[in-house]
Amino acid sequence: MKISGFQTFTLSDFPGMTAAIIFTQGCNFRCPFCHNGSLLNTNVDHNNLLSEQNVFEELESRKHILDGLVISGGEPTIQTDLLMFIRNVRDIGYKIKLDTNGNRPEIIKKLISENVLDYIAMDIKAPLEKYSCLSGVKVETNNILKSIEIISSAEVKSEFRTTCVPELLTETDIETIRSMIPSKTKYTVQKFIPEKAWNWPIAEIKETL
Ligand code: SF4
Repeated sequence: MKISGFQTFTLSDFPGMTAAIIFTQGCNFRCPFCHNGSLLNTNVDHNNLLSEQNVFEELESRKHILDGLVISGGEPTIQTDLLMFIRNVRDIGYKIKLDTNGNRPEIIKKLISENVLDYIAMDIKAPLEKYSCLSGVKVETNNILKSIEIISSAEVKSEFRTTCVPELLTETDIETIRSMIPSKTKYTVQKFIPEKAWNWPIAEIKETL
């Protein structure tokens, strides 16, 4: 696993749990409003990554005060050894929350079928016709729809989230996104913080909408 960040305690990122968070390195999207710009590049020097062994040692030493681990990014589902990593963390006794952009439904399906997830949070960037623009890459939107279907029909707690960039998403867009998700499923609209965005050429993005 390419791990670039480790937060040892959070009360707000894994509902109902005390948790730690790891931030995996690399993402298959380039959302212009991303708050984790340093985590996007997949090809980073290994010296700049955290040692997996150190992360496990830290998790082992904190298991008496933590219930779970949030695996965030970057995009965790592009990590080739994600399933093995999760199994090893579960063996210590942790529950697992996965944060994902939903672009790799086959990985999400595999993890669910292996029964290794306790919570899934998927970001939905935009209505389908705006997806490639707001994720910064060409997106096969069928993947997004498949992930929504897989997650919302699974026996795993879940939520969907959208970062609302007021200049790029209208109220109608948010309603459209909401209509893509089963009505009983939890949906949260998150506030965009422009100061934290890695790349924010708003005029250029607006032109392409
Ligand atoms: S906000 Fe977009 S670019 Fe940033 S980590 Fe999430 S999916 Fe990747």
